[in-house]
Amino acid sequence: MAFYQSENLHVEVERKIAKCWLDVKGRSHNVFSPAVIKDMEQALDAISAEPGIELVVFLGRKPTGFVAGADIQEFQNVHDADQARQLARMGQELMDRVAQLRPVTVAVIHGPCLGGGLEFALACDYRLVLNQPETQLGLPEIKLGLVPGWGGTQRLPRVVGLEKALRMILEQKTLKAQEAVSWGLADKSFETREDALTWIENELVRHARKRPKTRLPLRSWREFFLESNRVGRWLIFRVVRRMLNRKVPEDMSAPAEAVACVRTGLSAGMAAGLEREREAIARLSQTEACRNLVTLFFLIMNARKSTGSEAVASRTIRKVGVVGAGTMGAGIAQLASVKGCDVVVQEVNEAALAAGKKKIADLLQKAVDKGVLSSDEAHARLQAIHGTTNWNGFDDVDLVIEAVIEDVNLKREVFRTLEQRTRPDTILASNTSSLTIRQLQEGMAQPQRLAGMHFFNPVHKMPLVEVVRGPACEEDAIAALVQFAAKLGKTPVVVGDGPGFVVNRILLPYLSEAGLLLQEGMPVEAIDQTMRRFGMPMGPLELLDQVGLDVAAHIAHAVGPAFADRIPPQPALDRLCELGCLGQKTGKGFYCYQGARKTGVNDQALQTLTRELGIKHAQQKRPRHEQMQFARERMVYLMVNEAAVCLEEGLAERADIIDLAMVLGTGWAPHRGGPLRYADTCGAAEIVRKMEAMAEQLGPRFRPCSELRRRADSGELFYSTLPTLEAVLS
Ligand code: NAD
Repeated sequence: MAFYQSENLHVEVERKIAKCWLDVKGRSHNVFSPAVIKDMEQALDAISAEPGIELVVFLGRKPTGFVAGADIQEFQNVHDADQARQLARMGQELMDRVAQLRPVTVAVIHGPCLGGGLEFALACDYRLVLNQPETQLGLPEIKLGLVPGWGGTQRLPRVVGLEKALRMILEQKTLKAQEAVSWGLADKSFETREDALTWIENELVRHARKRPKTRLPLRSWREFFLESNRVGRWLIFRVVRRMLNRKVPEDMSAPAEAVACVRTGLSAGMAAGLEREREAIARLSQTEACRNLVTLFFLIMNARKSTGSEAVASRTIRKVGVVGAGTMGAGIAQLASVKGCDVVVQEVNEAALAAGKKKIADLLQKAVDKGVLSSDEAHARLQAIHGTTNWNGFDDVDLVIEAVIEDVNLKREVFRTLEQRTRPDTILASNTSSLTIRQLQEGMAQPQRLAGMHFFNPVHKMPLVEVVRGPACEEDAIAALVQFAAKLGKTPVVVGDGPGFVVNRILLPYLSEAGLLLQEGMPVEAIDQTMRRFGMPMGPLELLDQVGLDVAAHIAHAVGPAFADRIPPQPALDRLCELGCLGQKTGKGFYCYQGARKTGVNDQALQTLTRELGIKHAQQKRPRHEQMQFARERMVYLMVNEAAVCLEEGLAERADIIDLAMVLGTGWAPHRGGPLRYADTCGAAEIVRKMEAMAEQLGPRFRPCSELRRRADSGELFYSTLPTLEAVLS
C-alpha cells in the first residue's frame, strides 16, 4: 500500500526503507517544476513524521531516467531578477531539506541526471548509478548562461573535489556511470535497478550513515596538497581565472559567476555560497546571453519536433540508399545504420566500396570506444550495411542520399539513374554543398522527388541538417526528411534552394573577409583571436584549415560568382591550395599541425604569399584593440547582411531558423543568439550606418541589403519579440 501518493510521486515503505518513486505526470522525462517540488516537500513531510523510516531511496519510475533536471519551461514565468531569485531559493530549500532529512538518503540514477536533477542527487547521502549508456551526470547550466543555482556549486566540490567540480561546471562535462564512480560522484554502479535495490536492502542498510557535506573530500595526494589549504586553492582559482580570460567570450559572464559561487562557498561557508548562487541566478537571468541561450534551447527542441512543413509525413524511412561512400557518404551510412535503418551503399568500383566500408567500420569502432555501441552491436550493424557497385538493393529503399563528388554532371547522371532504379515513391536527396537542387533536377523525369539533405562534416558529430526544399519537391517528402533527420539525432532546419543554401552562403562572405584582412597584413592569429573572443568556437582561418582549403576554394568558386558583388576572388586561398597546404588534413594550411594539434602559424607559406601576391604579411605583429574591433565588425556585419538577404529571398521562413542553422552548423556565438538576433541587439540602424561607412572605405561588398535598410528605417526587429516558449513549443 502506498505510504504517500500524489500526482507525481509514489512512496512505499517496507522494512524501515521508504522508496520514493518519481513519475512526473504528462512529461516524457522527470523534471522539477514548482508543482513537483511542492509534491516532494509534502512527501518529505510525511517521511519525517514517521520515526520508523531509516532509509529513503529516491528512484525514477520512467524508463527515460531519474530526474533530467529543472523544468526549463519555468523560465517562461521569470520576468525579472526577483522572480529568478525566488526560483533559485525554492530549489535550494528543497535540496536543503533532503540534505537535512533524518533518515539516510540514496538516489538511484539512470538516464540523464543533469542540472537540478544532479543537484537533488548531490543533496542525498549516497548516489548509485545504473551502468547504462544513457546514464550521464552533469551540471550544464552554463550552456544556458546560468550557474547551477540549487546548491550545485556548493555540494559538487564537497563531493568530487574542487578541481573536478570546476571542470564539470565550467566545461559542462558530463560523466557516464563508471566515470561517475571513479570521480567519486557516485558510490557504486549496478547493471540493473533490481541489483541496486537488493544491495541497498541487504548491504547498505547495515552501515548507512548520514554524510553531511561540510568539507572537500581530499581523496588523492594532489587534492590533499592543493585543496586542503588556502594557498593551494588560491593557485587553482588563479589557473581557472587565466583559463576563463583566454577561453570565455566577451559578454558571457556565467562561468566567472560560477567560479565566484564556488569560491564564496569555500571561503565563507555554504550559506554564503548559496546566497551567492541566488544572486548570480538573479543577475544572469537578466542578461542577453541567458535569454539567447534559453531561446536557442527551445528552438532546438521545437525544430526536432516539427515536421518543417504544413504536411504531416505519411512515409516512414526504414531503408536508406547512400550513393558514394567517401567522407560524407560513409558518415551518413554509419549513422543511419546505428539508428536502426537498413542501409545499402553504391560505389563506383570494388576498391572504392572496400575503402568506404573501412571508413564505416572505423566510425563504428569509434562508437564502440565511446560506449555508444557494444562490439556485438557494431559488428551486427556493419554486417547489415549492404555494399554494391551495380545498384543491387536500391529497388526497395525509401530514401536515397547522394554523396558523390561535387560535379554537377555526375550528380545529374546519378539522379537520372536513380529514377530508374528506385520505386516511384522513393525520396531522392542530395548532400551537395554548393550546387542547387534546381541545377541537379535538370533532365529528371520526376523532379518532385528531389530535395536536399545537407549534412555537415563530421556527420556523427555535427548536430545540424539543412533539409532543402527543391523547387518541385513535394511537401510530404520534406516532412519525411525532417522526421528522418530527427530520427538520426540531428536538428533539421528547412531551407530554400540557393547556392550554398543558408549556412555556407552566410559563411562565405565571412571567410572571404578574413582572407582580405590577411591580405591587408593582419596577422593570422589576430584574425582568429578576435572572432574567438566574439564567441566563435574557432577563428575563420582555423575553420578553413579544418574544413580543408580545397573544399572551401571549391565552394567559393562554385558559389562565389552568384554573389560577385559581395564575394571578391580569393587569391591567397587558391595559392595555398596550389602549394599543397590544404589545412589540418595535410599538416599545413594557415597554421602547421601535428595530427590535430596546432603547432604555430605556417610562416613559410605566408612568406610565399607575401612575395608572390604582395600581401603585407605580418606588418603589425600586434594590432591595436580598435583595429581588432574593426576587423571583427567587418566580418560579423557581412554575415548579418547575408543572413538578412537570405531572409529577404525567402531561403528561410523566419529569422530564428537562420540563426539556429548558423549556431548549430558553425558554432556561431550561441550566447549572441545568431546573426539576426545579434543585429537586433546592436540595432539594424547602427549596423547600416557602420556598413555604409565601410562601403565608402573598403568597397561595395559592404552595401547593406534592402532588408537591413528597411528594418533600420522602420525600427522593425528581426525578432519582434523573443519567441515565447508557448510559441516555440506549440
Ligand atoms: P569524397 O570525395 O570523400 O567522396 C565521394 C565518393 O563518391 C568517393 O568515394 C567516390 O568514389 C564516390 N563516387 C564518385 N562517383 C560515384 C558514382 N558515380 N557512384 C557512386 N559513387 C561515386 O567527397 P565528400 O567529401 O564525401 O563529399 C561528397 C558530397 O558531400 C559532395 O557533394 C560535397 O560537396 C558534399 N559535402 C561535403 C562536405 C565535406 O566537408 N566533405 C560537407 C558537406 C557536404
